[in-house]
Amino acid sequence: MDSYFNPGGIFLLRRGLIVLVLWAYMLLDGGSFPRIRAAEPWFENALVGMEVGPTGAQFVEGKPASEYVSIFDGRDIVRRCAAANAEYLVIWVRDGEFTLHESSILPKPMGLGQRDVLREAVEEGQRIGLPIIVYFQLQYPAFELRRHPEWKIRQADGKPIDYLVCFNSPYRDHVKTILAEVLSYGVDGFHLDMVDQGFGPPTGCWCDHCQELYKNQFGGAMPEGVHWNSRDWDQMLRFRYQTSDRFKKNLTDYIKQMDPDVTVDFNYHGNPPFSWEVGQTPVRHANHGDFVTGEAGLWSFGALTASFNAAWYRAVTPGKPFQVAVQRGVRMYHDQTTRPLNDMRWELFTLLAHGAFVTMIDKVAYHGWLDPVAYERIGELFGEAQAKRSHFGQAPIEEVGIYFSVRTRDWIGRDQAARYFQSVQGAHKTCVYEHHGFGFLFDESITIEKLRNFPMVWLPNAGILTEHEVRLFRQYVMSGGNLLITGQAGQYDSFGQPLKESMLSRLIGAKLTRGLEGKDPWIQFGAEGKPVEIPASTDPPEAQGRATSLISNGIRKNWPFLIEGPASVYEPTGATTVGTLFNSHRIALPNPDAYNKEWPLSANQAVGPGVLINTVGEGKVVTFAGSPDFAVAGEHHVVEARKLLSNAIRFLVPQSRVTVTAPANVEAVVTDDPEQRILRVHLIAYNATPQTTPAKNRPFVLPGLIEDTPLYRATIEFREPIKNAVADDSKTRLEVGRDRVDLLIENIHEVIQCHY
Ligand SMILES: [Zn+2]
Repeated sequence: MDSYFNPGGIFLLRRGLIVLVLWAYMLLDGGSFPRIRAAEPWFENALVGMEVGPTGAQFVEGKPASEYVSIFDGRDIVRRCAAANAEYLVIWVRDGEFTLHESSILPKPMGLGQRDVLREAVEEGQRIGLPIIVYFQLQYPAFELRRHPEWKIRQADGKPIDYLVCFNSPYRDHVKTILAEVLSYGVDGFHLDMVDQGFGPPTGCWCDHCQELYKNQFGGAMPEGVHWNSRDWDQMLRFRYQTSDRFKKNLTDYIKQMDPDVTVDFNYHGNPPFSWEVGQTPVRHANHGDFVTGEAGLWSFGALTASFNAAWYRAVTPGKPFQVAVQRGVRMYHDQTTRPLNDMRWELFTLLAHGAFVTMIDKVAYHGWLDPVAYERIGELFGEAQAKRSHFGQAPIEEVGIYFSVRTRDWIGRDQAARYFQSVQGAHKTCVYEHHGFGFLFDESITIEKLRNFPMVWLPNAGILTEHEVRLFRQYVMSGGNLLITGQAGQYDSFGQPLKESMLSRLIGAKLTRGLEGKDPWIQFGAEGKPVEIPASTDPPEAQGRATSLISNGIRKNWPFLIEGPASVYEPTGATTVGTLFNSHRIALPNPDAYNKEWPLSANQAVGPGVLINTVGEGKVVTFAGSPDFAVAGEHHVVEARKLLSNAIRFLVPQSRVTVTAPANVEAVVTDDPEQRILRVHLIAYNATPQTTPAKNRPFVLPGLIEDTPLYRATIEFREPIKNAVADDSKTRLEVGRDRVDLLIENIHEVIQCHY
């Protein structure tokens, strides 16, 4: 943990002019001295910390009852968090209505009386050496917007969006004056939450400030609304992204100029399910401040989000620490329920295994009481994390690079980006269930070197690909890389209009005949089935037979199964074909659109090859005419769709360094420590309990909580022999062979250290 010492003359020598300025400011302001911090910033080796804040004010429009936060005590919170093994505390200070510091600008809640929670927390934090980070809300400034309605985001018709603030308005300078007040307390950092231009319609901002800035930059007027058919909208998107960028940079620069040692992190929203509405792109908006912070939580994002987000944050800020926030409540932040320990263990160890540092959010009782059971469980949870510290932070072994195209998100996803995300999420889900190491790649920052970090790259329905990207893919495959292409990847121009020919046709080894209508195509393997005329492959029959058996391994022959999602009909020009694509009976209906669009209909006629395999230079390209990845993440998930994808991965990367076989509810994260020559295999079990029908929103059942540890078998196989393997949990039974470890595990998290 970082150590600090308080004032003394020498800090002036070390910190120079900036500190002098700050010092003078604080003398005038009557504030305290800043501290000199340890050489290493607090987050550098952090593993687990707490965020503690009140609940209630945001739900009563500025008029909470007098008890609100009456016993929310900064000193007590610091002590309780330290006792629960937290390594830092993010203390709630400013929200939309109030602040919990002594401010000349913002009101404090009445229940606080004369107390200053931030002062209490900072003094106690300094006394016991716990870094204090300030939770500072940027969006939804209800208090300010009542006084300055002219700062509200405006829609194209001029109507304000009452809860959203325009980041191009004078609000920015207003925020700085509050930041300066808080900086004078000697805090260690700011968590700035969040730079959000809206999570969906209505859309802004057409305020006077924005109009003027836009005109200065682009020389013309803003588009008249959200028009996806207009190139102006492309410019408008750029403007919106720049708005977030400028605001984040401006605040970061301001804080760093006041005190370069104070850390800045923003709550990031460049990952699914968030899209252009928020005003962020994956890579660009993750790289503000000292590190990126995001959220997981199955209450809002699903259980797979822990691993998805951690891997995503790692990929958008390569080489940097990254923070993921989770909550102790059963349903969401503000419910003040407490999850069972094993439920929190599953989520925490998933995130830690992927290399995140994790903040547990506690929203306290209305008056500020801290739930003792929550802190007991968090103490145990964090204690276990610290005992296992040496197992975290190593580089993961990633065999599959999942490619994300922000251009596709924006111009094909448009107002329904979830449809694009679903293919990406299905790719991730396949990797997790089938235990393939994965990472993410982004069109925003793609290079040939980044592609070459992966033996194979997956393009899940990446509809829009530029010539530059396709050139890189070709270069990558020519030199031995492998591609997995699904759905309608490469079939759209940069504004989302369909192209006559796929950008990827040379790599695929086939011509695009047409996109398939509907989203309920089927695939079948085996020679029989309905009559179909598919052009003959140019490959010798034995090669075709081998490919067929590998791709369709374990899948019943002559059985069509649904791969719901976008599909294409291809005519091979050099690719080997495997399996058959079928359309559905929808096409045979007198009025296809009248049949329920959300429900798939049964397999009808063969329309083209199911899978195409092409050799290009030293590498291979496997193309699915359908989108099994979309299907895997959808509501009509046939397990075989996932097995098919896993077979394709094994076909493209036949020899993994480490192959894990385990139940589908167990995630494996394999990391390598080349200096110590240790491969670590983390196995994390998601062991949710069954649920009953919900009182509302049936049939959308929330997952049950994890109460018990599972008992399951797993096997680890190694390409090269290992010397030995040891388990962390003494209950785990291992049989260690030369290149294989067989396991019987009874835990939510186990880590097997394999020395090589
Ligand atoms: Zn504006």
